Amino acid sequence: MHNPYKDAVTQLELVAKRLEFEYTDKKRFHKAVELLKQPEQFHEGSLEITLDSGKKQSFKAFRSQHNSARGPYKGGIRFHPGVTKEEVQALSLWMSWKTAAVNIPYGGAKGGIIVDPKKLSLAELEKLSRAYVRFLGTTVGPWIDVPAPDVNTTPQIMAWMVDEYELMMRESNTAQLQNPLASFTGKPLELGGSQGREEATGLGGVYVLEELAKKLGWKRKQDITIAIQGFGNVGYWFAYHAKAAGYKVVAVSDSKSGVFVPNGLDPEQTHANKQQTGKLASSASEQISNEALLELDVDVLVPAALENVITVETAPKIKAKTIIEMANGPTTPEADEILAVRGIRVIPDILANAGGVSTSYFEWVQNLAGYYWSKEEVLAKLQPLMIAAFEDIWSVYEQEKTTVRLAAYQVAVKRVIDALYLRGRV
Ligand code: NAD
Repeated sequence: MHNPYKDAVTQLELVAKRLEFEYTDKKRFHKAVELLKQPEQFHEGSLEITLDSGKKQSFKAFRSQHNSARGPYKGGIRFHPGVTKEEVQALSLWMSWKTAAVNIPYGGAKGGIIVDPKKLSLAELEKLSRAYVRFLGTTVGPWIDVPAPDVNTTPQIMAWMVDEYELMMRESNTAQLQNPLASFTGKPLELGGSQGREEATGLGGVYVLEELAKKLGWKRKQDITIAIQGFGNVGYWFAYHAKAAGYKVVAVSDSKSGVFVPNGLDPEQTHANKQQTGKLASSASEQISNEALLELDVDVLVPAALENVITVETAPKIKAKTIIEMANGPTTPEADEILAVRGIRVIPDILANAGGVSTSYFEWVQNLAGYYWSKEEVLAKLQPLMIAAFEDIWSVYEQEKTTVRLAAYQVAVKRVIDALYLRGRV
């Protein structure tokens, strides 16, 4: 079976080879790299809840806290039947690199429960969410580990989790009752969530697109064509802001349908079509399959749906010159090599979709301060953060003549290693 954790370690070793020259004490450097191959803490347990039927059922749960050298652990919680220990571990490494790539003061973590949430009632889902918080106990908290939503976890689930955390703190009657709102991000607006969070990931990707356009000297934005796979939160907001910035979004798709309008489509109208008819296209002639969308002759392809969609099978057929990875892990390592050889530039997920975690960081800052910003204020802070991250990575990309992905990893892993050094952990 495919082991994503092995992929994450192989990736780290590859980056370490490139970074080694920057460190004089090789022994110390290798010690740091070895340390980064493992999570600092790994929690594994079984959560038992009473179902509506009165029967008891257990669910396997994980939390991988990879690295805390740069700040509290940060990363989502995934509810999915396909969750594995190795996947959670790999995702926690990637979170350490993502928070470092955009230079926000966090480490990396990830959590998960092996469950199909669609098979649970709302009451059962709430019990499971609360049980997860009891399982984590004081291993999470505003200055320790700040979880967030991921696949199938929602603002409502974060609200239950915050509430359970607060109850737990009160029961223990310790001084640990410290700002429970700042223990989880991705909360509903009514409960300490941040303005702008909903569109932040898609918009952050468009900020990256804008910087890329400057570097590549794209003059006429209206001639730059974009195809987007996935029209959920991330895909929709990417399409919306790309069009607003003057680009031509020609195709989008979701799990059930796709639309291709060579002269450019209107994301809001496309969204309305989907609400009214269940289909993205307004006529049969505009329909396109998901496979065909990936192979369109566009300037920019944006995978914004699932993991592992650009594979050894699909990579050779891609005609776009640039890929902006808005989904997490849409490109397999083997496909990445094919794209590199074919000269297709990939803006990696740890940069492109980091607008989400960056706005989670703003949410945490607002919770800690008890002072809340308007959407305009949040987005005005997001833009320079994304531009600075892009610039840091692009300069390494140009200097090292490597891929943008390797440049992003190089910047990120170096930041984590430097923090380990400064703390004297190696
Ligand atoms: P979402 O559930 O809102 O949307 C997912 C979209 O993908 C839906 O339109 C769905 O129909 C579509 N989809 C599913 N299967 C598909 C298929 N086989 N072909 C084409 N489309 C398909 O999820 P989201 O929040 O938009 O997340 C999308 C991706 O972005 C995920 O990889 C997620 O991990 C990543 N991401 C999300 C955020 C965020 O803030 N939401 C942040 C960082 C990364």
